[in-house]
Amino acid sequence: MVAPFQLAGNQVEPGQRKILQLALAQLYTQTPLMMPLEVIHGKFPGPVLLICAAIHGDELNGIEIVNQVLARVNPARLKGTLIAVPVVNVFGFINKSRYLPDRRDLNRCFPGSEKGSLGARVAHFFVNNIVNSCTHIIDLHTGAIHRSNLPQIRAKLECETTFSMAESFGAPVILDASIRDGSLRGVAESRDIPVILYEAGEALRFDPVAIKAGTRGILNVMRTLEMLKPSATKVKMNPMIAKSSAWIRAEQDGLLHLTARLGDRVSKGQCLGFISAPLGAETCEVIAPKNGIVIGCLTMPLVNEGDAVCHIASFDAVKQAEMSVERFVDELDIHPQTF
Ligand SMILES: [Zn+2]
Repeated sequence: MVAPFQLAGNQVEPGQRKILQLALAQLYTQTPLMMPLEVIHGKFPGPVLLICAAIHGDELNGIEIVNQVLARVNPARLKGTLIAVPVVNVFGFINKSRYLPDRRDLNRCFPGSEKGSLGARVAHFFVNNIVNSCTHIIDLHTGAIHRSNLPQIRAKLECETTFSMAESFGAPVILDASIRDGSLRGVAESRDIPVILYEAGEALRFDPVAIKAGTRGILNVMRTLEMLKPSATKVKMNPMIAKSSAWIRAEQDGLLHLTARLGDRVSKGQCLGFISAPLGAETCEVIAPKNGIVIGCLTMPLVNEGDAVCHIASFDAVKQAEMSVERFVDELDIHPQTF
């Protein structure tokens, strides 16, 4: 039997689940603003896994993923502890905004400080009360507003545990991504906490593929960390690791007609769509600059010159990557065309 779990002055007994409301800040009205979270503390020792969503307040898929994972974890059988924070940027969430009220991006404010800006204080609160208590992290994101992402993991793969979390998640694509200053990934790495970031779908939308793949992915990682029993029907996933990725930018202003879809294999020089003017026949083609797989798309047709319209990941073996994406889509039984 393990000891009770302590978090921000609260105690959770072994074999118990508890919803906590942590006092984060106050609104202008001086109404308290709480950060809700749930802790499931297993009866057996094991890792302390943090799953968190909506560091960008308008990224909703992760919130539903957190909910669906919580519904599937039984505290009587869990090894270790699950800390689930569905909404980190509570300010942004209630404003349907990616940002904080001071227009800062919370994911550039870590590790934060007690006496700094609002963003620095929220980041400091989250690190102090939650991040410092965990041993592993899965951070859930979506594409920005009007941009949708194929389910993908971003992680720094040189750490063995991070690599095994990324691989076992089972998303079709892994980007070996460097860490941005001020991000949750950065603060986790500085504390030697293995962390993976899941990106899928679009801001302000629920996406069935993204939610299903994310829920399944977290449960897969929990099995790999031996927090849950192995699945009887476990299928070994072979996600493809992208060596690089780049956005194609619009070369003129106008209306975008994108024919390429998430998960499509594209070849260098291939036409992926065109940009037209509201009147007249003058169009400009969107051309793939290299071979790869489409992992992100603009979903809104109005573009200015320079806007990012299509995100292409490059692989050593594109054919194999395409098969990996196809297999993933078959398993989830939903085609990415429904994005
Ligand atoms: Zn995000």
